Amino acid sequence: MSNYNMEMDNVIKQIKRYNAKNVGLQFPEGLKTKSIKIANEIETKTRTNVIISGDPCFGACDVADSKMMDMVDLIVHYGHTPLPLKYKIPVIFVEAYSNIKIAKVLKQSLNLMNNYSKIAIATTTQHIRLLNEAKDFLEDNGKEVFLNSSKSTLKGQVLGCNFSSIKNLDAEAYLFIGSGRFHPLGIHLFTKSPVIIANPYTSEVTDIKDFADEILRIRFARIIKAKEVNVWGILISSKEGQYRFNLAKEIKKTLEDEGKKAYLILVENINPDILLPYLDIEGFIVSACPRIAIDDSLMYKKPIITPQELEIVLDKRKWDDYQLDEILFHEKYEI
Ligand code: SF4
Repeated sequence: MSNYNMEMDNVIKQIKRYNAKNVGLQFPEGLKTKSIKIANEIETKTRTNVIISGDPCFGACDVADSKMMDMVDLIVHYGHTPLPLKYKIPVIFVEAYSNIKIAKVLKQSLNLMNNYSKIAIATTTQHIRLLNEAKDFLEDNGKEVFLNSSKSTLKGQVLGCNFSSIKNLDAEAYLFIGSGRFHPLGIHLFTKSPVIIANPYTSEVTDIKDFADEILRIRFARIIKAKEVNVWGILISSKEGQYRFNLAKEIKKTLEDEGKKAYLILVENINPDILLPYLDIEGFIVSACPRIAIDDSLMYKKPIITPQELEIVLDKRKWDDYQLDEILFHEKYEI
């Protein structure tokens, strides 16, 4: 049974320290079920008003500081580690570390790693504290283990759009500890190396390859279709961590230099319905979260691609050099 450490004592202490009267809470979808219980405990123990952000939240790129700044003195953001971003009001991050047991799934994972001796391990925020156990286990079983950090991420941590912690490692394969295919897919597209998923919640160990091949086939088809597009919409996100206006302007210029029409569209949450009114636009390029184009592609009728995929469309990059779009958060405020 897994549980997440919601750090209630620390949260209450911090709220009192800030002398906050109104507190905003923000949760990723998987933790929203805990929101009412947490709000109740905070209101009871601190005499504050709690406002729960009901909007979707997929990362620390999307802290509700702008939306809540006139309502609350402090935001408690659950489920993500802080990114090097500037917030308009104080934000406390509660990573919600999982205490799931991983010994069994680690043992099982050895079966899929027989052919590799150099292994890099990676995971998401919730499982960061389990990585040392994984490292010790692999080393005890004769593997050379790589575990690095970066300017935007912690040791072994990957985000869906940032793989700096596993860049340029001399690893033959990657072991991802956690659930879902979102991050392992990203690791595979980023490194082009084998990625084994050790899921401690289901005790399953799988290889991402077949799924990644299927996604790459879809990407190839989208890129081919995008070659027919003459009128583009370039999507910019208003979320601080996903806001890449300069990139969007560069893309617009590139397209216009190629004789195409391109329009900049600012959106908060990109989804198929919000793009429906743009009947004149034939395809979209996402300068916001890079995973919208990759993971949600089948939900959209028109081609929706990343900036790097546009380079392939325009014959400025070869398909063999397919690259995942990354957001380098630590460079965001550099001139
Ligand atoms: S930009 Fe997308 S992938 Fe990156 S942290 Fe935000 S939601 Fe996750």
